[in-house]
Amino acid sequence: MSIHDTAILDDAGHWRSRDLHVLWHPCTQMREHPDVLPLVPIERGEGAWLVGRDGRRYLDAVSSWWTNLFGHAEPRIAQAIAKQALTLEQVILAGFSHAPAVELAEKLLAIAPREPGRASLAKVFYADNGSAGVEVALKMAFHWFRNRGEDKRSKFVALANGYHGETIGALSVGDIPLYRRVYAPLLAEALFAPSPDSYVAEPGETAAECAERAADGLREIIERHAGEICALILEPRVQCAGGMRMHDPLYLRRARELCDAHGVFLIADEIAVGFGRTGTLFASEQSGVQPDLLCLSKGLTGGFLPLAAVLATQTIYDGFLDDSRERAFLHSHSYTGNPLACAAALATLSIFDADDVLARNRATASRMTELAAPLAELPHVADVRQAGMILAFELTQGGDKRTPFDPSLRIGLRAYRAALERGVVLRPLGDTLYWMPPYCIDDDQLLLLAHTTRDTIIEATACA
Ligand code: PMP
Repeated sequence: MSIHDTAILDDAGHWRSRDLHVLWHPCTQMREHPDVLPLVPIERGEGAWLVGRDGRRYLDAVSSWWTNLFGHAEPRIAQAIAKQALTLEQVILAGFSHAPAVELAEKLLAIAPREPGRASLAKVFYADNGSAGVEVALKMAFHWFRNRGEDKRSKFVALANGYHGETIGALSVGDIPLYRRVYAPLLAEALFAPSPDSYVAEPGETAAECAERAADGLREIIERHAGEICALILEPRVQCAGGMRMHDPLYLRRARELCDAHGVFLIADEIAVGFGRTGTLFASEQSGVQPDLLCLSKGLTGGFLPLAAVLATQTIYDGFLDDSRERAFLHSHSYTGNPLACAAALATLSIFDADDVLARNRATASRMTELAAPLAELPHVADVRQAGMILAFELTQGGDKRTPFDPSLRIGLRAYRAALERGVVLRPLGDTLYWMPPYCIDDDQLLLLAHTTRDTIIEATACA
């Protein structure tokens, strides 16, 4: 090792210790740093790579918490932000307007899912992260009924195994025990309908039959609480944080029909699955469904800046028009519609056109299918499932769907470390490993990902 190499390693160590001195990291038991969990100081990103301060390169197979679409430091988005920063970096959006906010709203409304015979989504409300976007949608649905004097409509229906963020309102409609349990006393009551997750289909049941059965459960809840529910919130097609559990598009169709029949708003949370992630620009399109409220974030800015957009129908918007300020929608984040974030989102949307991203994703997704197929034969792989650019491996003790690993084995953590040592960022959800790479991932990188995943699974499950 040369003096130069030693200096680089010292630099990484230096940042590690400075970090642990002052930072509190998200979703982390800080006690596990640095011995159980390595802390990786990153210096820069290049396409699908993250480059550490020690010079090591890591393939970002989880798109930095599912935000990145076209690679790190994508120059077109970076330049759009820089240009905007030299013009207007921020302005209060109450009483003021600016071109990036208007243009982005116009573009989002033009590409939003549509359903024949249904008036299209008509207005955009901005927030500054996914959870805040969910809060906006929940409050809008609730407040709309209040404004009509329908005070009994105060309940939300959500799905078992769903996730919508971790602020108190968003957490109230989430069902992931790890995030929810300890805060349960603080949360608003929600009604949880069965998940349409086809991984838990009954023996012999197809994904569509499983979706129908879950829809029957939803019907029961909506009928039992008729007149008390303001909205149903769900993640179309994939329950991402719930372990990349996927369901048949038929479910959303049924959910739409039930909402229509009972005057309940349908909130589609496409924060993780929007912007081409599952094959279509929006996952709702696969069901031919247009929601009443559509929540977008994460990939909206290509993974550059926090921003959320909530798209609403004209009917919802009109329900707030009145002489009273209290009947106006009351939600005001300081950075609502931040010009830099809007500029990043506009640049992101123009890349979809310029690079024919959906066609490229189709090719990448089928290569992912091909490369994942042999891994399905590994002894502990119980399921390999895919929706476009999301592909997940369910690991179990017996390699079947009945015998999960003893959680104390921490298979997911073992896999995380094994992959990281090999230069790939896989961040399992429990014992579910998944690929959710930036769309720019190339064939060599996919091959590396597949080989590493194989070695990772073998190493992580060797203890079982
Ligand atoms: N909804 C879904 C479906 C998500 O996956 C997430 C983030 N994982 C959120 C909401 C919350 O977004 P944020 O982390 O930006 O608050």
